[in-house]
Amino acid sequence: MTDFVVLGTDTDAGKTTLALLWLAAFPDRYEYWKPLETGDSDAGKIARLVPAVHVHPPLLQLNRPVAPLLGAREEGKTIPGATEVIAARPSCSQNDRSLLVETFGSPFSPLNESELQISLIKSLAMPSLLVSSSTVGAIGRTLQCLVSLGRYLIQPLAVVLIGKADPFAIEQIERHWSAGRVHSIQPPETWDIQGVALAAREQKGVLEQVHALVHGGQCPPLSSPWQGGVGESEDLLERDRRVIWHPYTSLREPDPPLVSIGAHDEFIELADGRRVIDAISSWWTILHGHRHPVLMAALAEAASRFDHVHFAGVTHQNAITLAELLLGTAPWQNGRVFYSDNGSTTVEVALKMAYQYWCHHGETGRTIFVSFENAYHGDTFGAMAVGRDPLFFATYEPLLFQVERIPVSPERLRETLHRLGDKVAAVIIEPLVQGAGGMCMHSPQVLHELFEVTKKHGALFIADEVMTGGGRTGTLWAHQAAAIAPDLICVAKTLAGGVLSLAATLASPAVVEAWDTDDRRRTFFHGHSFTAHPLACAVAVANLQMLTSAPLTAPRRIESFWKEALDPLRNHPKVRDLRIRGSIAAIEIDTPGGYLAEINREIRGICLGEGVLLRPLGSVLYSMPPMCISSDSLEKIAMAMKKAIEHLA
Ligand code: PMP
Repeated sequence: MTDFVVLGTDTDAGKTTLALLWLAAFPDRYEYWKPLETGDSDAGKIARLVPAVHVHPPLLQLNRPVAPLLGAREEGKTIPGATEVIAARPSCSQNDRSLLVETFGSPFSPLNESELQISLIKSLAMPSLLVSSSTVGAIGRTLQCLVSLGRYLIQPLAVVLIGKADPFAIEQIERHWSAGRVHSIQPPETWDIQGVALAAREQKGVLEQVHALVHGGQCPPLSSPWQGGVGESEDLLERDRRVIWHPYTSLREPDPPLVSIGAHDEFIELADGRRVIDAISSWWTILHGHRHPVLMAALAEAASRFDHVHFAGVTHQNAITLAELLLGTAPWQNGRVFYSDNGSTTVEVALKMAYQYWCHHGETGRTIFVSFENAYHGDTFGAMAVGRDPLFFATYEPLLFQVERIPVSPERLRETLHRLGDKVAAVIIEPLVQGAGGMCMHSPQVLHELFEVTKKHGALFIADEVMTGGGRTGTLWAHQAAAIAPDLICVAKTLAGGVLSLAATLASPAVVEAWDTDDRRRTFFHGHSFTAHPLACAVAVANLQMLTSAPLTAPRRIESFWKEALDPLRNHPKVRDLRIRGSIAAIEIDTPGGYLAEINREIRGICLGEGVLLRPLGSVLYSMPPMCISSDSLEKIAMAMKKAIEHLA
């Protein structure tokens, strides 16, 4: 038996009528709970008209038949948040029974001062039925509600029209909502015990049909289903093999790529029917989860007005709002935002700005950058020069500019800056976590000292927050944990929640000032075709608003999980080191071979077998999941990691 939730297109759609007939038809299989009630009590009505049913009292009962939020304000009460309502969910009095949960009003009625009821429905994570009145307007009303629910990735098992049977409405709703069936139920002729029992008896056939759906508990797919079968996916792989050159992948790669057909929350759907957990947030881009409804809604809204407009001499509201939001999080006032379109370009921008800054100050000899061992800043030439990974970039060495690459050590930095004096333009670092170099971590204290040393020697300080930004390490920007004020801050990847490619370089007022001149030769001559893409900016505004409107709790929740679940691995003979910061967990495995280690493939295969998509960085097995990740999925990732390590042992 399965708990389920009854939704209504609006108030008086007939939710309680369905609940009454359902409970009269299956009195010994279901119990009733309506968490929030206003006006005449539906719980009381159910108890009166179906006395055999176990009715759980509401969490909050308000007197006037108005919106709960309004009623609560009038009575000076507070409506609990979705999480608290869920925590109060009652257990059924007997094991073999399920709970019918009735909602109030529409899914989009306000739940409390900050949330709509949809937040509660989403968190309940139960199969649902959508009730709609069959009175005039049923088709539009029902379809509108289904589309809106779809944005929140909620797909009811069926629609139940309450009232006079309307075959035309059923035909039309089914035509335009191909995911499920529409059923018709008539209310009792008399509202007494006998009338309800009679109506339930007479319509037992329909109720049984809907019950079979609820009992199955399988929600219809949300997106248009993948039409191809396994054959088509094999054909795609063959075509892929002939024409595609995948990033960081040998042309002789023995494992074919996974054919993805969709993604939602922390999951990627595969053409072969598997659903895998995206434990690395699609190369660290997806922040809240795939197809987050708020971000997708922002994208849809922007796409109804924009495609792309160039950004030299043209501007748009979302780019301006986003820049204001970003600067509102910066460690100084009155800086500026320079947009570009990916992680490498935001780094290129910062490097060029740093050098040109010194040129504008007449110090053209500051041609050296200082970067750190294990650093990675992107794949374009400037980014390669400061990343300087011996495996990835040694081939291009003759083409790369001069960089001093030192260990992450304030002492070594002091010595280097002392030795190079006024030849250094800037120091660049991935604050707190060096990502692609193997999730190497340093403390906020070390970061603070590196910053202090740099400033003492007069060079600029660049924080490459391309991976660490967006709260991954626990604070919105990693540099905030060290209470430092970098001169240039690079952001990308999660800037638009991972939905679209967008990047920004934040420049401090001191840097900006160097370009504040009438001399046209002192322009920053840099710009990409897709700089500040309007759709990406619209999504990024929604993303930043989400990130800054409430305390960041997800990274802490995920960090606590990692600490508890992975800590026992510290003493494992195959584990060289375990590193955890915010939502990132990395296990360095004791194995030779570096990035090209053969175990890499094996580990990926084992984890995939457990339904978890991981992509070790050489001997470093790590996870950086989207913030929406459920406890269940976190458990699965930890299990997969442990299984991989056990296999090696
Ligand atoms: N900087 C850092 C710290 C990164 O981790 C990356 C990408 N992994 C980049 C820059 C480059 O970003 P992109 O892949 O978008 O060019």
